[in-house]
Amino acid sequence: MVVSWTAHRFAGGVLALDTANTVVLRDDPRGFDRFDEAVEIARFAEAACRFRREELGGRRLSVTDPQIARPLVLEIREATDSLFRGAVLEGRYRDGALPRLLRACAAGLDGRDDLGAGQRPFGEQSTPLAFEAALAVSALSLLSAGAGRLRVCPNCGWLFLDKSRNSSRLWCDMAVCGNRQKAKRHYRRRLSVQEGLANA
Ligand SMILES: [Zn+2]
Repeated sequence: MVVSWTAHRFAGGVLALDTANTVVLRDDPRGFDRFDEAVEIARFAEAACRFRREELGGRRLSVTDPQIARPLVLEIREATDSLFRGAVLEGRYRDGALPRLLRACAAGLDGRDDLGAGQRPFGEQSTPLAFEAALAVSALSLLSAGAGRLRVCPNCGWLFLDKSRNSSRLWCDMAVCGNRQKAKRHYRRRLSVQEGLANA
């Protein structure tokens, strides 16, 4: 099935988290992986050039061969999810999570000499950057920023960065998860009113 890479699927706030969120309902039997088909990695990277333009400093991403890139992309993705999910939910890095992420990022950056420093960590715009290298830069930037603004959406379990001024964002995407919760609450309220009437 072809994935439609909409703005909602970039609700994570940074490339590394958007990528972590390509697994839907993680740890749930109904869950699935939007990168099951390797070609989706290339399509995701294409969409990320638009949705993460600011983070990437306008640099484009490239996926030369999605099949070849896939194992490393998935390893960086899973290492990212495990480390930051542990940081939010358990207040610590899970055992082995930090060396795993650093190793995965090192592999993503191996042989790249086209990255930048300071204000342009993703390097110059003139040439595209390999997706796995961009993922590594995004994850490492997040690591150095600390987990203070990281959240896990209580509805869908996605990781996201709370960029709101007063750090009060609850949902990955108010228009999707916030509304679903509101609808559920409304439904439960109606149900209890009906039960109340039936028991009266
Ligand atoms: Zn959500």
